[in-house]
Amino acid sequence: MPMTALDIFKLLAKKNCGECGVPTCLAFAMMLANKQTELSKCPYVSPEAAQQLETSALPPMRAVAVGDLQVGGETELFRHEKKFLNPTAYAMVIEDDLDDEIIVDRARQLDAMKYERIGIVSGVDLIAVKAKGDAKRFSDVVTLVKDNSGLPLVLMSDDPLIIEEGLKLVSKSKPLIYAGTVGNCASMANLARQYMCPLTIYSDDVDELISLSEIAKGEGVEDVILDLNLGAKSLRDALEWLTILRRLSVKKLFRPLGYPVMLNLDNGTDIETQAIKAAIGTMKYASLIIFGNLDPARLYPLTTLRTNIYTDPQALIQVNPGLYDIGKPNRNSPVIVTANFSLTYFTVASDIEASKVPARLLVVDTEGLSVMTAFAADKLTPEKIAQALEEYKVAEKVDHRKLVIPGMIAMLKMKLEDLTGWEVIVGVKDSSALPKYLKELATE
Ligand code: SF4
Repeated sequence: MPMTALDIFKLLAKKNCGECGVPTCLAFAMMLANKQTELSKCPYVSPEAAQQLETSALPPMRAVAVGDLQVGGETELFRHEKKFLNPTAYAMVIEDDLDDEIIVDRARQLDAMKYERIGIVSGVDLIAVKAKGDAKRFSDVVTLVKDNSGLPLVLMSDDPLIIEEGLKLVSKSKPLIYAGTVGNCASMANLARQYMCPLTIYSDDVDELISLSEIAKGEGVEDVILDLNLGAKSLRDALEWLTILRRLSVKKLFRPLGYPVMLNLDNGTDIETQAIKAAIGTMKYASLIIFGNLDPARLYPLTTLRTNIYTDPQALIQVNPGLYDIGKPNRNSPVIVTANFSLTYFTVASDIEASKVPARLLVVDTEGLSVMTAFAADKLTPEKIAQALEEYKVAEKVDHRKLVIPGMIAMLKMKLEDLTGWEVIVGVKDSSALPKYLKELATE
């Protein structure tokens, strides 16, 4: 747990001299606890107290950058306590004993494996190049993958000489080194420090993993990812250890294990088990998952799950209010009103697209609430719709004066007509009925 103001106060010099800019040490301690000032403003902190305070100010779990991805850095055990910060990253393995053509195809496919849901694009995040042969073949394959994909890389081998050949080619993009083990940790850590890349440390045994973490730290490597071989354990054991490791880092502030944890499923696990373990790992508490292989049909639900887990539970997902063209509307195309809750927008927009009737979607600022919730909370009112009509200059873009409102807010019709002078048409209650409704509207 982070230090309280009282804990910090106990470590201060208690001179109440005011040199730090506030009149008392207690006031300074309170500001420090709230991160409103810096320790360096007090000239009387002893070196021992400074070290204690600086250590306690470190985040409980280190955030590690792999390429342009951030993993870890989590502060909570439960999402509802605040939010989870960096979505679980998904990596797919390419083994270097495959034919070049297959490697090129696979790298391109993984690069393109992207899904969009409620405006968030998600997919495969990294490619793990796995050495099966010698250093020359490994470096050739790293080059092939790098040239055919923009995804960050994981370099996988037990041999530091092979890893170094890969690092010589791609260290600028900060690939993840996999892995430092009992036999090679110092050499791998050396490479991580020399090429300034993150390092995975791997052991089946938690005490050994702690020793490896200390070796890496001793070599000056701060960016570490932990692999306790949980991908090979039973689902129950994997979940138990993922929970223990998260608890140790965010609740107990146990620094040697205060790093992101990975789940390596590239161990012959069948594809169904990989998907199930990955779902558990995404929910609790894997920061990185390596798959041997996974087809889009299984990856898509995982990315959807990940999006759900890593959205901020205290912030509604919204789209910007405005007038959106769906298809290629002309001056006679219908204008349809909706709310700016993201899920509402994307559902209505895709139902309009499905109708093949181009339309304009007038998205009213309902502060991210859905239609009925916004109506109940007075966030979707005739005045707000009239204001949106005005603000987004809808009258300048169409020749008619007809506005389709959701069937659930039919009671706004009269007042909206009075306010705007537009004919208000009460549309369907459920967006799924829009395709049929719009086709009928177009033939009227
Ligand atoms: Fe206390 Fe240091 Fe501030 Fe003086 S400068 S009041 S000793 S915290």
